[in-house]
Amino acid sequence: MTKPLYTLTLHDAITGMRAGDFTSVELTQALLDRIAAVDRAVNAYLTVTPERALEQAAQADAARRQGADAPLLGIPMAIKDVLSTEGVRTTCGSRILENYMPPFTATAVQRLQRAGMVMLGKTNTDEFAMGSSTENSAYFTTRNPWDLSRVPGGSSGGSGAAVAAQATLAALGTDTGGSVRLPASYCGVVGLKPSYGRVSRYGLIAYGSSLDQIGVLAKTVQDAALVLQVMAGHDGNDSTSLDLPVPDYRAGLDRGVQGLRVGIPQEYFIEGIQPEVEAAVKTAVAHLENLGAQIVPITLPNTEKALPVYYLVATAEASANLSRYDGVRFGYSAGADSILENYRESRGRGFGAEVKRRIMLGTYALSAGYYDAYYLKAQQVRTLIKQDFETAFETVDVIASPVAPTTAFRIGEKSGDPLSMYLMDVFTITLNLAGICGISVPCGSDNQGMPIGLQLIGPHLGEEAILRAAHAYEQTTNWHTQWATPETANV
Ligand code: GLN
Repeated sequence: MTKPLYTLTLHDAITGMRAGDFTSVELTQALLDRIAAVDRAVNAYLTVTPERALEQAAQADAARRQGADAPLLGIPMAIKDVLSTEGVRTTCGSRILENYMPPFTATAVQRLQRAGMVMLGKTNTDEFAMGSSTENSAYFTTRNPWDLSRVPGGSSGGSGAAVAAQATLAALGTDTGGSVRLPASYCGVVGLKPSYGRVSRYGLIAYGSSLDQIGVLAKTVQDAALVLQVMAGHDGNDSTSLDLPVPDYRAGLDRGVQGLRVGIPQEYFIEGIQPEVEAAVKTAVAHLENLGAQIVPITLPNTEKALPVYYLVATAEASANLSRYDGVRFGYSAGADSILENYRESRGRGFGAEVKRRIMLGTYALSAGYYDAYYLKAQQVRTLIKQDFETAFETVDVIASPVAPTTAFRIGEKSGDPLSMYLMDVFTITLNLAGICGISVPCGSDNQGMPIGLQLIGPHLGEEAILRAAHAYEQTTNWHTQWATPETANV
């Protein structure tokens, strides 16, 4: 029996369409059918756009018949609902943007579309990307395809679950403190967070502007590299996107890890980490060593300060970014009589509890008299964290660590305890604070069958090194060949 089309990797799907084995309409229909079959159980999508997808697929097929080709021609993908898509509702997982129709498309998405991508729909997210589980979505919680009673991670949990449920070939996510890597780890797929400035943030609805970066969730490292290739590069609409040449990310994938220096930070193997996670990551490191990598113990001494620094910087920036939702310009408006009452009512009803908590924390940290003590101090410590990495990368090429201290937890388990939720970010936020890149690649599962992710960290613009190491690991292990079966769930 031939494999159903939805099970293909992005790379194999492109190859198949180029060879004329199937059309984009057939592939897209297979994915729409898959969404219909599993998403009632998984809840990965906030919006599915079947007509639009089939129309784009037909256009891709027509173009191909006329001899056209492009890196993603006819490839169905899903987009996290914090990325603006012209004419397609973009909610950020929030009531305040429930009916928001962006008048333009985010640059990253536009580049995928220009390369031929077919958009299947928009995926669920914690409200304004604030969270680690999608439980903060104002609409519903996405379920982990490996165990529907567990979270998929967040905030790009819809994208992670959609890839893991094979309800898309790949998906875009965003990563402010781990939101691509954590769902990738919890769902057993690949998650790539590029360096700050590598991908344009134009049209990404901002959370923490100095931390946000658009990333990829995919079935394989090669697929993630392919999508990054299309998105990366300078954009005149985002002054923080770097005007530097983009390397060919796939060219070096097969170079292996012979001689690659892999740093192991002692601060990332701490007490409290789930023993199976620690064991799986250590086994993965030993595997890299067997493949020829050189393992180097390192230290990142300021790691323990990262959590408070992150939750000051991120909330401060969020409080400023979210001030634009005033019930006047766009989004939900309570329609109250006085302007002040309208602000109060619109924001009071439009935002959920976690978003309000962060706005309050951030506003406090930025307020007169506290700025120096909190925000400024946090920025200074952030510099130390960045310097830790710079020092480490003088002696190593990549750094290996767990993605998160535990595997996916149960829905509801942490929702009453924000601090224990924030702790899930302890190994991922440091990269965003330093502006560097990282990838999560499946490296095992715990005794409940829940996936475990290996994080490979690279220096600023060091995507080639982490892709190469992750690819070498993936291709010599078989975690990427194992799939969840949400279709068998009784819902
Ligand atoms: N969990 C982190 C937070 O809540 C990171 C979220 C993200 O990367 N968008 O801020």
